[in-house]
Amino acid sequence: MSEMISVVVSVYNEELSLQRFFETITNVLSHCDVGYEIIFVNDGSSDKSGMILNSLANQDTKVKVVEFARNFGHEAAMIAGIDYATGDYIVCMDADLQHPPESIPEIIQKFRDGYDVVSMIRLENADAGFIKRLTSGTFYKVLNLFSPVKFENNSSDFFAISRQVAEVLRRDYREKVRYLRGYVQSVGFNRTTLQFKAASRVAGESKYNFRKLLKFSIHTLCSFSDMPLKLGIYTGIIVAVFGLIEALYSIIRKIFYDVPAGYSTIIVTLCFLFSVTLIVIGIIGEYISIMFDEIKDRPIYIVKKTRNLHDVKNNDNG
Ligand code: UDP
Ligand code: MG
Repeated sequence: MSEMISVVVSVYNEELSLQRFFETITNVLSHCDVGYEIIFVNDGSSDKSGMILNSLANQDTKVKVVEFARNFGHEAAMIAGIDYATGDYIVCMDADLQHPPESIPEIIQKFRDGYDVVSMIRLENADAGFIKRLTSGTFYKVLNLFSPVKFENNSSDFFAISRQVAEVLRRDYREKVRYLRGYVQSVGFNRTTLQFKAASRVAGESKYNFRKLLKFSIHTLCSFSDMPLKLGIYTGIIVAVFGLIEALYSIIRKIFYDVPAGYSTIIVTLCFLFSVTLIVIGIIGEYISIMFDEIKDRPIYIVKKTRNLHDVKNNDNG
């Protein structure tokens, strides 16, 4: 078997799902006509996930484990998995079986057809409520409005890339503030999409909350678009035009009616100008904080130990 597929799975407190995930994916992969490895990245779990992964690695050498020194987040875990993967194609997926392993044969077929990037598009999310769907829809609209790269609505952290694309990610996309899904969609190459139906989580609960998602959205917007930075210039121009009109109006009133311009006009103008100024300063602050993170150049992740992986990577993952 010359062809080989690497499945990268990020794991954070998934003790209730892991065994079932392992059985399902092994069952699917062993029926595909390719060699495979399953790379579990333990993102600093505080439950029994680490122990379960160890015992899986003991029973099956196709199971490889990368254990982080602490929690670095879902994207860092996927990046680490991609760094360690040796397959011709790499599939990234969640451990909670929301990303159906049954799609893997279809993905393999796409690679055989010559594609390099397969983005998996979520048809419906059994767990997402109305609010989550609305906010996620709005997020993609705003992102696409501002960003020069166009992003797929409803794309997910379920995607697959060829070795060549993985090489680009390993070498050239080492930003600290990042949006992996966005890179995958913007590197070019032959890209295609497949649809899948997101199932419910098999067990446990979602690790994303509103605050994390908001931060993630702001970071994504800022790292793919500099439009917000230019907001100051545009609002400045608009406000200047209004100011000019108001100045003319006051002068005319002064000449013809000899009454002072209104007090409320001053208050409204002041409030408006100050809020615009503060918003613009805040936006600049966001970009500075991103630059600060990049300049510090700390590692994207720190590996504590690995299982069934022989090539010891140096810690240069920045
Ligand atoms: N995850 C992770 N690190 C984190 C949070 C989540 O590796 O800090 C993993 C988690 O174990 C799961 C995947 O990322 O495999 C997606 O997380 P989750 O299911 O909580 O997100 P949702 O599907 O609700 O968006
Ligand atoms: Mg999930």
